[in-house]
Amino acid sequence: MKSLLKSLGLLVFLTSAAFCEPAELHRDLTIPNMFLVKESMRQYHKSGQYLREIDAIAGQAQTYLETNLARVRDRKPAIVLDIDETVLSNYPHINEFDFGYIPTEWSAWILRGEAPALIGPRELFRYARKNDVAVFFITGRAEKQREATLKNLSKQGFEGWQELIMKPDGDHGASGLYKAEHRKRLTEAGYTIVVNLGDQASDLEGGYSEAVFKLPNPMYYVP
Ligand SMILES: [Mg+2]
Repeated sequence: MKSLLKSLGLLVFLTSAAFCEPAELHRDLTIPNMFLVKESMRQYHKSGQYLREIDAIAGQAQTYLETNLARVRDRKPAIVLDIDETVLSNYPHINEFDFGYIPTEWSAWILRGEAPALIGPRELFRYARKNDVAVFFITGRAEKQREATLKNLSKQGFEGWQELIMKPDGDHGASGLYKAEHRKRLTEAGYTIVVNLGDQASDLEGGYSEAVFKLPNPMYYVP
């Protein structure tokens, strides 16, 4: 009986296998295959495509600032920058952990302060500072990460900015609301936020900036 069931099982397997066309062997899933998605993300970085896209979008933001600066010169011109995957790259850590997010490991990486700068966004930063445009960082990083973040920013050549705005420790509220509230505060203090640059929709939604520029980030999502 057991061997009969075994044979039946084998027969079912062979029969169903026979109905699968060779061309369909690689697309039997209704959602993307995680291994292949990871490979495509690695390739996206390795090929240089990621950095090219980052630099191109930061370049567009800089062109917008250059073009509009004279118009807002007397209205305290400012730009707002996110930090992670906007001016600093965590890709070395993300790749090391095979695109997995392990909160304790992520925190340890942030505290090391070794994230490299993204070049195009740093050019935008430098252009702003050279032209007396105030730079505000608004990040989802927590206050307890301030010292490490200051060290990291300084080491990567970000000097002369106005304010580093961080989330209170233990605040797990929506990032979008918190960021928009601070842009509102800055606007009410008289600043004209000409450019807002970030890698998440939640960096950019909620108004209080003339123009928003979205950098690519296929690696994670922050609501
Ligand atoms: Mg970010």
